[in-house]
Amino acid sequence: MKIIEQIYVDGAFVTPHGAERFDLFNPATEEKIGEVRLGDAEDARAAIAAAKRAFPAMRRTTPAERIAMLHALRDAVVAKADALNSAMATEYGAPQSFLAFSVPHASLVFDLAAKTVANYAFTRRIGNAEVVMEPVGVAAAITPWNSNIGFICTKLATAIAAGTTIVIKPSEMSAIQTQTLLEALHEAGLPRGVLNVVNGYGHVVGAELSRNPDIAKITFTGSTATGRTIMRTAAETFKRVTLELGGKGPQILLDDADLDRAISHVLASAFRNSGQACIAGTRLLVSERRHAEVTSRLVEAVANLKTGPSSDPTSDIGPMVSARQWERVQSYISLGQEEGATLLVGGEGRPEGLNRGWFVRPTVFTGVTNDMRIAREEIFGPVLSILSYRDEDEAIAIANDTDYGLQSYVLGTDADHMRRVARQLETGRVIINEAPADPQSPFGGFKHSGIGREFGPFGLEAFLEPKAIVS
Ligand code: NAD
Repeated sequence: MKIIEQIYVDGAFVTPHGAERFDLFNPATEEKIGEVRLGDAEDARAAIAAAKRAFPAMRRTTPAERIAMLHALRDAVVAKADALNSAMATEYGAPQSFLAFSVPHASLVFDLAAKTVANYAFTRRIGNAEVVMEPVGVAAAITPWNSNIGFICTKLATAIAAGTTIVIKPSEMSAIQTQTLLEALHEAGLPRGVLNVVNGYGHVVGAELSRNPDIAKITFTGSTATGRTIMRTAAETFKRVTLELGGKGPQILLDDADLDRAISHVLASAFRNSGQACIAGTRLLVSERRHAEVTSRLVEAVANLKTGPSSDPTSDIGPMVSARQWERVQSYISLGQEEGATLLVGGEGRPEGLNRGWFVRPTVFTGVTNDMRIAREEIFGPVLSILSYRDEDEAIAIANDTDYGLQSYVLGTDADHMRRVARQLETGRVIINEAPADPQSPFGGFKHSGIGREFGPFGLEAFLEPKAIVS
């Protein structure tokens, strides 16, 4: 049993003023594995005060000094890789494939931020103006549970790259990973107050960060509903906001797609992190001509997926993070049938042989139309909806007929054709076939999927203010 009693403020682990406790579970076994003591608004204010004190020295640092800090943070994460992996395995039950990506990604973001700083022009000239890119002021970050370590590291790396200080409120459901990560980050020896982390509820600590006038910038990853609340509160003090929100990613399977390659990518995109991913491609658009062929191939491929705990390295799909999330996914599976969609594979209940753990049967619906709630709302579980289209214009119209606009997918063989389709899609990122996204390329959403971008120079600029000194 892991008991987490402290938060991280002003360079030290301290006991919070808040005294409420939150239980932590292993989702693969439903066993309680720990408890975290939560901070409150007073703790958030103490953390903000520490970050504010540290800001003047941080804003004066040179790019070279910040690059050195980023490298120290990277090395600290690498040194704790095994402990981070095991914390993620017990707290999320995530499949090994997800773990294999997560910790390397968390250290990579520091490296990438260092490269961005090295290549970025913090000063440039426009006519008689010297334009200086200055750090925006003290930043706050609020992160979700589904890729906790990666989000904390991304937001911290960007703050350091920009020369500012930060207060982070991670998801209360990921406290064990957060604690392990903090023990690592502490070793990097950042100046006091540059990094502060307060565990707590969103409506308590998150709300204080959104409202506090000493916070100039808020970067949030989480649901669209929470993003709206944060933006509304942040508007009072004109905080700069970066919002990375939900998605309902379309995957357009073009008629010339090679199914031997495409089917495995369709499933990998749809069921990434057991479907608990903002970028999941959860709407598969297939032409009427290829519908029968695609559905039969999918039935076969889903049958070969293994659902099980992290401890089994052959598991492709792990449990949902919580009982609440399990119930939510179940309710969408039953809703899909009520709405008239056809269950192709999967369905309600637990997968055979898994009587404990918040496991869901990987589920595929056909006969889905875009007005159904299962096609419009983010389910956040391994549930894929197949919609059919008559021609390409209709496919693009269906893909764009959503409030979301985070990531879409185009599968086919003609590169020019796929790029033409990609240009018409209203999402911040379009993935063509299995192309891996360059981690410095901008990531973020159109429409209700968010505001602003993360990674590379676009991510850095979201933490900077241009100042024109005219002479
Ligand atoms: P959530 O919105 O419920 O919670 C996210 C964070 O916000 C948590 O730390 C929570 O405590 C906090 N919060 C809740 N209420 C708050 C309030 N009133 N004020 C301030 N903070 C508050 O999301 P979740 O369930 O943890 O994560 C899943 C969601 O995150 C999904 O919608 C998913 O699509 C989205 N997500 C988006 C991205 C992206 O990059 N676009 C990445 C991962 C997850």
